[in-house]
Amino acid sequence: MRFEIVTIFPGFFTGIFEHGIVRRAQAEGLVTIETHDLRTFTHDRHRTVDDRPFGGGEGMVLKPEPLAEALASLGIPAKTAQSIPQEQKEKTRVILLSAQGRPFTQSVARELATLDSVVLLCGRYEGVDERINELYCDMELSIGDYVLSGGELAAAVVVDTTMRLIPGVLGNEASGDFESFGVADSEISADQQGVPRSQHGAGGLLDYPHYTRPAEFDGLRVPEVLLNGDHLQIRRWRREQQLRKTLRNRPDLLERAVLTPEDRRLLEVLQREPNKR
Ligand code: SAM
Repeated sequence: MRFEIVTIFPGFFTGIFEHGIVRRAQAEGLVTIETHDLRTFTHDRHRTVDDRPFGGGEGMVLKPEPLAEALASLGIPAKTAQSIPQEQKEKTRVILLSAQGRPFTQSVARELATLDSVVLLCGRYEGVDERINELYCDMELSIGDYVLSGGELAAAVVVDTTMRLIPGVLGNEASGDFESFGVADSEISADQQGVPRSQHGAGGLLDYPHYTRPAEFDGLRVPEVLLNGDHLQIRRWRREQQLRKTLRNRPDLLERAVLTPEDRRLLEVLQREPNKR
């Protein structure tokens, strides 16, 4: 899968994709990440990419012409162009990073991970001339309800989250399904080779807490159930922890989560517990 990032700060990405899974995915040829300096597509002495907003107001706006040229260099025509090859429409998405976008979630990342390429346009200043959005972009994505100073951090978040869901990038083919925001058990097709289902945040819940050695640290012991080797008990305990954590930190997720009757019974009990934090 290819990620093409259009930015006025290509140097921002130096180093950011050179660690861990994202570095390995590139080394193994599963992912290609290219940055494109927007200033390369300017034609004046000052390499101007911005201009004052029509209608007045604060700040500057990224001009449409360099962005259109950058997209043309990537083979992306305006939506008004007569003959956009069907193949390209289906397998490429042009995304404008924007605080006004739809929320970027794990399920959007899962959708993107099925594509051949994603083009990410990083805004700066007050944003991007809206005609670029209308003419070229398939979606606007926001990484959260706050305003960043530029789209670069958001682009890095989209690349990182999406690339780890590409088949082959994570060691275990289905690990992405079993994390926080993971899919429902019924949607998991991979062979789990004895890993109990509903164990790792499947169904849209948050993950359960993890522990490693030593068994005792600073006076706190690892929950006893994790040490006794009883997989059924461990699975039940983990599911309860997922429900507990989701209820405490992200109760909104419970409305969409895939819950069993047993989960619902447990939730009722947990809801009656006093909130400790
Ligand atoms: N005037 C814009 C607004 O109020 O929505 C904010 C512009 S912001 C200072 C500059 C750029 O940062 C945006 O064009 C966008 O590319 C990026 N950006 C800011 N917040 C973002 C967010 N939450 N998600 C994704 N991109 C964001």
